[in-house]
Amino acid sequence: MTDKKFHPADKIQDLQYFGEFGGVNPSISDSSTYTFLSAKTMFDTFEGNADGCYLYSRHSSPSNLYLGQALAAMEGTETANVAASGMGAITSVLMQLCGQSDHIVSSRTIYGGTYAFMKNFLPKFGITTSFVDITKHDKVEAAITPDTKVLYCETVSNPLLEIADIAGLAAIAKKHNLKLVVDNTFSPLSVAPVKLGADVVVHSLTKFINGISATVGGVACGTQQFINDMRNVNDGAAMLLGPTMDSLRAASILKNLRTLHIRMKQHSHNAMFLAKRFEADGLRVVYPGLESHPGHELYKGMINHEYGYGGMMTLDAGNLDKANELMELMQHRNLGYLAVSLGFYKTLFSAPGTSTSSEIPLEEQKEMGLNDGLIRFSIGLDNDIERTYQLMGECMEEVGVLKTKPVFV
Ligand code: PLP
Repeated sequence: MTDKKFHPADKIQDLQYFGEFGGVNPSISDSSTYTFLSAKTMFDTFEGNADGCYLYSRHSSPSNLYLGQALAAMEGTETANVAASGMGAITSVLMQLCGQSDHIVSSRTIYGGTYAFMKNFLPKFGITTSFVDITKHDKVEAAITPDTKVLYCETVSNPLLEIADIAGLAAIAKKHNLKLVVDNTFSPLSVAPVKLGADVVVHSLTKFINGISATVGGVACGTQQFINDMRNVNDGAAMLLGPTMDSLRAASILKNLRTLHIRMKQHSHNAMFLAKRFEADGLRVVYPGLESHPGHELYKGMINHEYGYGGMMTLDAGNLDKANELMELMQHRNLGYLAVSLGFYKTLFSAPGTSTSSEIPLEEQKEMGLNDGLIRFSIGLDNDIERTYQLMGECMEEVGVLKTKPVFV
């Protein structure tokens, strides 16, 4: 992504919102409902044609709109709708786009909750999903039926870190008149999926964007028309399912978003450092920044290089017992936390097969290459990553994941 006119971080920084007393941060809207001077304006607001008026905070609130605008600026979309969680955003987008007997073609390696929603929950409404290897475009096309409405993927997949060729998938979506929905949670700022042809971008704000593991949150970014449809009082999924973010949370996430560009650079720098070193030590490391990654060349051409290849890396410890032993030892040595989620200042690690992807049946995990010894790392903002490498290497040697002492240079 080399579009010089589109600097997502600058677009966020350029947005100025002041508080009502001249505060440098916007005032927080601490109200669930809003008064009207005239009954006519209230009616118009219900009808959706009274700009600048607020009705009820499940519909929209000033704080949520500020955050939504900043995220839309980051993704290069017309607008966005924030939600109480990533799943709140994903589920309402899919339910907005699909109805009875519709069909979704989805990447098979996606976050376990999204997978479970498509596999187990949507069929209750007659919506079915075919899960495919999204890196094989012939498989994607073969799965499309006349009922298909949505093509779904993650830019960098959870947990296998597969890269979706968004421009290629957008061309397929266009050809078959589908909406391409992309979860960009692992790669904010690095990739702008809409610039590559996606129709809707979703995020779990819980992760890198908020960056302090203090709350869950989500967003759907898209056209004004689509977001208006999601908010429609009569049939909008966001309005009627009610996954609304609280204003206090929206205000705090907006403040953290202002430093996302600095954090992403450090996450990427640290992850690249560890990935290169551990690979050189002979470990099976998966990181999109490594030349050994099958999607490396593709990703290189997609990313905004300033923000790098991201903070997510996996390492195969061989089996679950070894993975658990290693994670417990690293936690004991204060190198990170054995915790799900990602995008924190501290490194987080978990074994996805038994945690965040446990919704995916074992035989399907095997088929997609998800071993039980796989450890997913969200690399933190460590100041001295060389020191972290040495200390992690010692843990790996102690539990027998590294056969020889780590190479210190
Ligand atoms: N998308 C991805 C890629 C995720 O990793 C997650 C959560 O782990 C979600 C969506 C769901 O987000 P949330 O937990 O905020 O509902």
